[in-house]
Amino acid sequence: MKRLSLRAGVMLALAAIFMLGLTFFLVLYVSNANSWAMHAGNTHIYTNGEFTGGGDVLDRNGKVLATTKKNKRVFNSDTTIRLSTLHAVGDANGFISTGVQTAFRDKLSGYNLITGLFSSTSGFNDVTLTIDSNICAAAYQALGGYKGTVGLCNYKTGELLCMVSTPSYDVNSKSDLKRAKDGELEGVFMNRFLSATYAPGSTFKIVTAMAAIENFDDAYTRTYNCKGGGEIGGETVKCTGYHGDISLEQAFAVSCNSYFSQLAVDLGAKTMTEYAEKFGFNKKYDLDGISAKTSSFNVDKARKIELGWAGIGQYNDMQNPLQYLTSVTGIANGGTPIKPYLIKSVKNSWGFTLKSGSAKKGRRICSGDTAEKVAKLMDGAVRITYYKSSFPGLDVYGKTGTAEVDGKTPHAEFIGYCKDDDYPFAFVVVVEEGGSGNYLAKNVANQVLQAAKQSYQK
Ligand SMILES: [Zn+2]
Repeated sequence: MKRLSLRAGVMLALAAIFMLGLTFFLVLYVSNANSWAMHAGNTHIYTNGEFTGGGDVLDRNGKVLATTKKNKRVFNSDTTIRLSTLHAVGDANGFISTGVQTAFRDKLSGYNLITGLFSSTSGFNDVTLTIDSNICAAAYQALGGYKGTVGLCNYKTGELLCMVSTPSYDVNSKSDLKRAKDGELEGVFMNRFLSATYAPGSTFKIVTAMAAIENFDDAYTRTYNCKGGGEIGGETVKCTGYHGDISLEQAFAVSCNSYFSQLAVDLGAKTMTEYAEKFGFNKKYDLDGISAKTSSFNVDKARKIELGWAGIGQYNDMQNPLQYLTSVTGIANGGTPIKPYLIKSVKNSWGFTLKSGSAKKGRRICSGDTAEKVAKLMDGAVRITYYKSSFPGLDVYGKTGTAEVDGKTPHAEFIGYCKDDDYPFAFVVVVEEGGSGNYLAKNVANQVLQAAKQSYQK
């Protein structure tokens, strides 16, 4: 009896070891199989280190942006389209890690956990993106050689229609690639829309206004004094104008720094942080699973004057363009943002749809009532300062920013949306060292919006 139980014990122990080993293998397999199959040494999908084992990457209108012909990756024949869609599509070498050809190469090659790359022997998968390459080309041209980024989405459906990052390089040009690799094109392998952060400048006044509307009963009647600047604890926050006693609506429209810096100090660090976070600062964002750089708002150790600067988008505030675009859709949609997405569909070689993108709601940023009030402020800013006529045929609500960068020409920014059921576009524009937001960034926004409008009229 005793010997029997000893044998049973040994058998049990052996079985346990076997199960442990099997579990270990399965865990390893599930978590690593993708990268094993996608390894650059896999000649099934790579040729001389270049990704060739994938189907077509198409824009929303079916235009082929990248395809494989005779074991070579071939990109769109139009140079501007290649340059403007580079960061969305990605290159064949994998330098742009956030590009579809790298981030979604498993989807393009038809890889899955059960059959591995077997299904790809009958043909690869095609990935259709939500972007419109004509709008991207317009954005690239509008940026006119400046570094920066443009993001534009349909705030009802969440489809990202335009995602452009500059500088770019031509994947068909060996000399361009050499310049890129030699570091001549600063940050060219980075998609600024996803992986950059910028000082928000005055665009942040949206957040400070939102906090005031929800926390001060007298938000619309309280005034602060602007004498070309506002005094906080014996120090001064400079303003670009001399606005005298000024209240919320006027201060937002003329972007008075004195008003909003003093307002931020009165709201306090805790409330300012709470509202910055409602607007998406310090929160994680992703585009179809591709992580974006996290924006930041941190006034924990700020002195009063620094809290004032933080309230007008300076100090150490940093916005991420994807986060900003998402939050703008929140204002356009009565407080609840929609998450922009890039993958419209994945189809196998028989035309069967394996995956299709759809609208997903994000965290509410404010009440419907507050969203309407903030929208009214953005409407007023365009009417009074940027002019509705700057955007022919479109009713644009927005806020510009001119973000100071140490010793350089400031970055020009513009965020907003079209109040129009036929053209439900939300946008974010950053022009690095572009000077005042009410000039270059505004013009870039208009050119991109006009291209989007044209595309929707077809
Ligand atoms: Zn002022």
